[in-house]
Amino acid sequence: MSLTVLNHALADHIVTRLRDENTPPEQFRPLTRALTHILIAEATKNLPTRPRTIRTPLEEMEGRELDVEIVAVPVLRAGLGMLEPTLEMLPGAAVGYVGLERDEVTAEAHSYYCKLPNMAGKTAFLLDPMLATGGSAYRAAKSLYEAGAEKVILLCVVAAPQGIAKLEKAFPALQIVAAARDRDLNAKSFILPGLGDFGDRLYGTF
Ligand code: URA
Repeated sequence: MSLTVLNHALADHIVTRLRDENTPPEQFRPLTRALTHILIAEATKNLPTRPRTIRTPLEEMEGRELDVEIVAVPVLRAGLGMLEPTLEMLPGAAVGYVGLERDEVTAEAHSYYCKLPNMAGKTAFLLDPMLATGGSAYRAAKSLYEAGAEKVILLCVVAAPQGIAKLEKAFPALQIVAAARDRDLNAKSFILPGLGDFGDRLYGTF
């Protein structure tokens, strides 16, 4: 498994504003959008490309275009905040959805909704902003691999050590791109220092 944590001044600035408890949803949403653009730029850095001959207004040249079929898969509901900016960067991507909720007794994430396009041979961008215990990312990544995804890249805003360790053990080929790596989880599995409940911050459901 590979883990890339962004090392980028603008990303740090945005993450700090997302963490700030005084940042309201109307600012949280565009900040998420901007940060997702940076995460996508990092996650696509080494994707395969193929040559493409084009004409500029001045002459013919050989450019390059992405040579990969991408499926963006937000984990409901917080991942929805990362979907539109992903599609702005990758307009040709297909979209799948994974809905997960935590069983109150076992604390395991279980799937209540899964709608995926044909995943065979595809590169999946799994959009799950808070990697805490890793329960939801584990279930979602498992569904993507079982559906035939060739590569899964998890994009998250904040990753906790516990979630990273769980995914590392389960999926040796998984790639994670995170904007920040945090210290720990509290007793309720919230990331510390974190930013609180991402879905609540995004949609104002406090
Ligand atoms: N999900 C969140 O939204 N925040 C956390 O801190 C952990 C999981």
